[in-house]
Amino acid sequence: MTTVPSEALRGRPVAPSTGALTPVGLTDVTITGGFWARMQELNATAIIDHAEHWMEKVGWIGNFDAAVEGRLPQDRRGREFSDSDVYKLMEAMAWEIGRTGDADLEHRFNDLVARIQPVQEPDGYLNTMFGRPGQQPRYSDFEWGHELYCFGHLIQAGVARARTHGHDTFVDIALRAADHVCDVFGPGGKEMVCGHPEIETALAELGRHTGERRYLDQARLFLERRGHGLLAEIDFGPEYFQDDVPVREADVLRGHAVRALYLASGAIDVATETGDPDLLEAVRAQVSRTVASRTYLTGGMGAHHEGESFGQDYELPSDRAYSETCAGVAAVQTAHRLLLADGAAEHADLVERVLYNVVSASPAEDGKAFYYTNTLHQREPGTEPAQDEPSPRAASSLRAPWFAVSCCPTNVARTLSSLGAYVATTDDDGLQLHQYAAGHVRAGVAGGEVEVDVETRYPDDGLVRVRVAATPPGPWTLSLRVPGWAPGAVLRSGGEERAVAPGYASVHREWAVGDVVELEIPLTARWTWPHPEIDALRGQVAVERGPVVYCLESVDLGADVAAAELVVREAPHDDGTTVRVPVRVRDRVGGAWPYRAEPADPAADDVRDVALVPYHRWANRGPSTMRVWMPVAR
Ligand SMILES: [Zn+2]
Repeated sequence: MTTVPSEALRGRPVAPSTGALTPVGLTDVTITGGFWARMQELNATAIIDHAEHWMEKVGWIGNFDAAVEGRLPQDRRGREFSDSDVYKLMEAMAWEIGRTGDADLEHRFNDLVARIQPVQEPDGYLNTMFGRPGQQPRYSDFEWGHELYCFGHLIQAGVARARTHGHDTFVDIALRAADHVCDVFGPGGKEMVCGHPEIETALAELGRHTGERRYLDQARLFLERRGHGLLAEIDFGPEYFQDDVPVREADVLRGHAVRALYLASGAIDVATETGDPDLLEAVRAQVSRTVASRTYLTGGMGAHHEGESFGQDYELPSDRAYSETCAGVAAVQTAHRLLLADGAAEHADLVERVLYNVVSASPAEDGKAFYYTNTLHQREPGTEPAQDEPSPRAASSLRAPWFAVSCCPTNVARTLSSLGAYVATTDDDGLQLHQYAAGHVRAGVAGGEVEVDVETRYPDDGLVRVRVAATPPGPWTLSLRVPGWAPGAVLRSGGEERAVAPGYASVHREWAVGDVVELEIPLTARWTWPHPEIDALRGQVAVERGPVVYCLESVDLGADVAAAELVVREAPHDDGTTVRVPVRVRDRVGGAWPYRAEPADPAADDVRDVALVPYHRWANRGPSTMRVWMPVAR
């Protein structure tokens, strides 16, 4: 039996002091095979290296050198928030070092620390964009300057390092930055908030890690200040940065999606740590309505390119979906925090949906190109993005190696390197498994330490086999999540079999090493129909298989997907490997005016059996047109 490492070093991205469930750390979970092992391997061997390479190439890491050598502002490269992507890369590296002990990565991490450390000023301030002769003064642009946002990512990276390595120079940099923020923005200081939330959740987590109340209090101050019009008027309006309504009075997530979700995460953290059930319930209700009416089938959020923002309820156009990859990462963070707070399976369902259909859709199969936005309907075949220079962020045609605003690749990297932390939790009764991947989980439960081996080919196959590898004496409860889309699941344990409903299926008993529990989730392709008030989806249907959303690509159809109508007679054909659907390919309709007195009924006699592909793999075979929602043939 291995030993659970000291509490501080278990690598938990989120470690609330109270709540329904206690998270395990990423060092408590080993993912050994299947989809997520491949994604973690891709991250370890390609994505992290790629992000580091590009940030050297475009000079965002070099900005720190330029600061030390007195070459700013003239040699500064990148946008005002580019420091934050260096910190997100370092957060990914820190989790990855904690997960694998990669010595080369440790070396590279420390190299970066050595380049950043001398840029920090005596009072803890650290930013390559502001405060030097010839630059804008510090804290002169709260709407767009992103200084506190950058500090937030620095602090999150510092927490990652502290929880996987222990105190070191980098953790010290983060602590000095946090102290600086409290000095400047604490009681009696500047009464402002950052145009981009992020510092709130970072400070709350640092407070959890250090036990230092000051950080939590500062997070709360930032949270309570927002929504009172402190930020100046901008074209997008105050809701863009959630400065329109105080967070506890809002009833839905709105404005810039990533900002709204980072703020929600911070609010959950503060509500949990300060014992504020009203605030927690307010955010839970906001997220609940957002999931019910402002979320794509993929779990993507953000229906407007303008302002990268949420639309109104049921305003979810496929072809204009923004669905930023970062909003997916942020939704995972928000849902994970709600899960820890109240233990409701719906939050783990959302984590799963977003991981498979947004976070995994972003990186190309070689880990060297990314989607920034995640459209659900590509009308024109994509064009090859530039390979040697950053692309515009919302081109949304083919994955690009890097972007002028490149928040998404590093967000994918830090999520994949810390994925283990989303797999399982514990409570007073026992162990809960929320996400299914082949591997090993160990955790402390009342009475001692539990270890389980998970065997599964999920999501290719619905059988999840959990074998007890270590158990304390005395009874404890093993709970397995039954996804909301999976009626008809069956649980087998101790020679008995019973039907289990969506939620958590639990077995409570005394365990012996070698005991096995099997969850059989019916996993076959199914039709999915939209809410009738999503106007953009009227008369259309989608296909899902387990947690994976499928799509139709022109490369499989042999024609533009604009000509496709689905023949919905029986369930989609699913042989366990490939999902196929009957598609009627009708003649394209021309004309000088796209409206007419009678409904168009174009000729078509060509019905083809066409393979669909998982949405997260679309456009991996070159330019194509694509749609997730397909018109139903009349
Ligand atoms: Zn992004």
